[in-house]
Amino acid sequence: MFLVGLTGGIASGKSTVSSMLRELGCPIIDADVVARKVVEPHTPAYSRIVYHFGPAILLENGEIDRQKLGQLIFASEEKRKLLNSITHPEIHKAMLKEILFYFLRGYRYVVLDVPLLFETRRLTQFLNHTVVVYCDPATQLSRLMQRDGLTQEQAEQRVAAQMPLNEKRGLANHVIENSGSREDTHRQVLRLHTKLEDSMDFLLVRVIAIAATAGLSGILLYAAKILLS
Ligand code: ADP
Repeated sequence: MFLVGLTGGIASGKSTVSSMLRELGCPIIDADVVARKVVEPHTPAYSRIVYHFGPAILLENGEIDRQKLGQLIFASEEKRKLLNSITHPEIHKAMLKEILFYFLRGYRYVVLDVPLLFETRRLTQFLNHTVVVYCDPATQLSRLMQRDGLTQEQAEQRVAAQMPLNEKRGLANHVIENSGSREDTHRQVLRLHTKLEDSMDFLLVRVIAIAATAGLSGILLYAAKILLS
């Protein structure tokens, strides 16, 4: 099995492409969903966040007020680092568990849907392929305004706050050009899926897993022989 990172810019069509891949049967791990799950009440990260940031960051129902927490870390670099040191290991553990689940079920590849893939670069070293969903700036702006009910100025501000989509495009191995129709994008997604399915990258991990299992069995057999002799 191998890992594919999927990213894009705000309203460039990442969710649209992700749904198309899901419909084709690809396992998708959504980093945003994982990040929300690991801070749900009764989790280790939740307890540590409440311990360090105080109960004032909780909503009435006991869940973490993400907006309030966001404001706190926006104002303090130190607090942002503290929060990341609590959440990131939990996010990585949860993602690894999901990856392992799909690996054991025999999938050839898993897609990691990560909005800030190239901004944080924490995951890129583990990925065999990276995919950027691109669309031209005018289309991105008009789709963003329509989807989120924003004025042109608000939409421009949100786009400007991100790494330029053009830059992300230059960093990826594959680009889905989503400025046209959904059908056109669907065709590109199908082509990409076929390419990834045909890729032999998954073999390496399987060979390593088989070799490791065989090696371990050999060691266990050898140890048993010594113990029993
Ligand atoms: P992202 O997940 O990157 O923020 P979305 O997939 O939500 O972006 O797409 C942004 C908006 O544009 C949504 O309302 C979506 O329905 C619409 N959209 C995406 N791709 C197309 C397309 N090829 N043609 C028309 N509308 C599109």
